[in-house]
Amino acid sequence: MTRLACDLLIAGSGAAGLAAAVTAALHGLDVIVAEKAAVFGGTTAYSAGIVWVPDSQQARAAGVQDGRDAALRYLIAECGNRLDRAKAQAYLDDGPEILAWIEANTHLRFNLAPGWPDYHPTKDGGSAGGRSLGPAPFDGRRLGARFKDLRPPLATTTILGGMMVGREDLPQFYSMTRSTRSALHVGRLVARYARDRLSHPRGTRLSNGNALAAALALSAFEAGVRLLLNSPVRELAYDSARVCGAVLDTPDGPVAIDARAGVLLACGGFPADPALRARFYGHVAAGLNHCSAAPAENTGDGFRLGEAAGVAVVEAQDQPAAWTPVSLVPQPDGTTLPFPHFIDRGKAGVIAVDRRGRRFISEALSYHDFVPAMIEACAGDDEIACHLICDATAIRRYGLGAAPPPPGRLTPHLRSGYLLRADSIGELAACCGIDAAGLEATVARFNAAATRGEDPVFGKGGDAYQRFNGSTGLTPNPCVAPLQTGPFYAVRLVPGDIGTFVGLKTDAQSRALDAQGAVVEGLYIAGNDAASFMGGTYPGAGITIGPALVFGHIAARHAAAAVNQPQETSHAR
Ligand SMILES: Cc1cc2nc3c(=O)[nH]c(=O)nc-3n(C[C@H](O)[C@H](O)[C@H](O)COP(=O)(O)OP(=O)(O)OC[C@H]3O[C@@H](n4cnc5c(N)ncnc54)[C@H](O)[C@@H]3O)c2cc1C
Repeated sequence: MTRLACDLLIAGSGAAGLAAAVTAALHGLDVIVAEKAAVFGGTTAYSAGIVWVPDSQQARAAGVQDGRDAALRYLIAECGNRLDRAKAQAYLDDGPEILAWIEANTHLRFNLAPGWPDYHPTKDGGSAGGRSLGPAPFDGRRLGARFKDLRPPLATTTILGGMMVGREDLPQFYSMTRSTRSALHVGRLVARYARDRLSHPRGTRLSNGNALAAALALSAFEAGVRLLLNSPVRELAYDSARVCGAVLDTPDGPVAIDARAGVLLACGGFPADPALRARFYGHVAAGLNHCSAAPAENTGDGFRLGEAAGVAVVEAQDQPAAWTPVSLVPQPDGTTLPFPHFIDRGKAGVIAVDRRGRRFISEALSYHDFVPAMIEACAGDDEIACHLICDATAIRRYGLGAAPPPPGRLTPHLRSGYLLRADSIGELAACCGIDAAGLEATVARFNAAATRGEDPVFGKGGDAYQRFNGSTGLTPNPCVAPLQTGPFYAVRLVPGDIGTFVGLKTDAQSRALDAQGAVVEGLYIAGNDAASFMGGTYPGAGITIGPALVFGHIAARHAAAAVNQPQETSHAR
């Protein structure tokens, strides 16, 4: 068998793996990143790339009134006894400095999203904005020949066959038909995209998680990190009880890697693994439908390798995964691709109903809160599904799901059956297979109060987070308007996820722990292979990529310290 040697072997090239790789390399370690897929970036490259890091230097510079104590109170209010206090403390204490280190030492830059509230901002310690940051756009051409190895974004979230639209660009797209400035901004982006397509298979102005993965990877390559694609870690190697390397399956056959400082598992959890989903997701165990928006390669390899190495699994989570409702967008080859519904539910003139035509939640609440309500609303049904319904005014302004607002075209989505349209609410119900009388009654009741901007039943628009996702400028309630102008439209939603929360037990140094709390020497775990330290809750935007970066970085620093001063750290427990 071929043998290679390094200091640190990292399984997985998402946020956790890349943050660890660049940190370790810049601390003098020889690093190999083994990636199972043909492309690097993992779920991170699909994501919006937001990180939740309270008290960042950007927040301080912007004068945000916040503090680590308030953030800790918020986490306690959100997670209760499930909060891993030691990791939470480490995250809040070290997160801002680690983010600053990453910015000072890599190509990755973050912009504060100042008005982005926590998802439950009225809870103790909750913030109305200033804890979530997004990656600055990144020029993919800087990756040179490696650009083709970067996982493209989810196709359903791009436009014109491969152009990324960043969260920061969305307001300009929404108002491009009403504002010259917005039209010019969009025009510049489209012109750049057209030029790109002369020489590249997709746009090279990267935003969101694609920008994050590209920027970190470029820095890792420059620091000498070796990336092996199509090379899943198959099994760990031991020197007595200490993990000292692994065997990879590569296109040239198995390769044994000796890793002096150990192995970091950063394989992104198990969102794409049917067996593990059935083990941990209640509705899947009950035989019901589920569709993950994460990549197909995230099948729990790290989770299984860790379990086999004796690492404890933290099963008791509030929710086993980070949920999101998704719609299934038909593709030309007859398959479907998921579109995650993060934002559109919050707009005015949009409601969600079950097959009885009943609303079941404030649609503007977070995607993670929406799915359990959807599952409950469908109790006793043979599948979990609901429909987002809107009127012509709403769809003209914001589109619906993957169906874009003008000048984008609805026709392809109507033809494919993704988007349903009818002249009346009753006819729309029939198209959707929804109880018509139930839907008509729901819309009539909703409209009566919506003309005053009120939603007495579910309180849509009732807090800063909900209003953040609403229709900008609409008063008195940006989330509420009557559905009154035909034709009416619908898109079908099913339950999905963007990654898993159940995972392996680690300490605040990212070291793997067994059921007794003892360190499994030589084994680090970060990203979604590690259990959510927030106990399976979803406090705000960026609560998985933030910890992936921070605990990936911490793992690498610990490994570097072990190599540089072995006598001080090798027997730490
Ligand atoms: C559409 C979407 C939007 C999202 N937006 C956000 C957001 O804005 N903020 C946020 O915090 N979270 C967001 N998420 C969730 C977030 O993307 C993930 O939680 C996060 O990226 C996980 O990072 P990771 O490093 O653990 O795993 P990943 O990024 O998934 O990387 C894991 C890598 O490991 C590889 N791998 C798997 N098995 C092996 C093996 N045996 N050997 C080697 N490699 C292996 C995989 O191929 C993959 O490349 C979003 C997710 C989606 C789908």
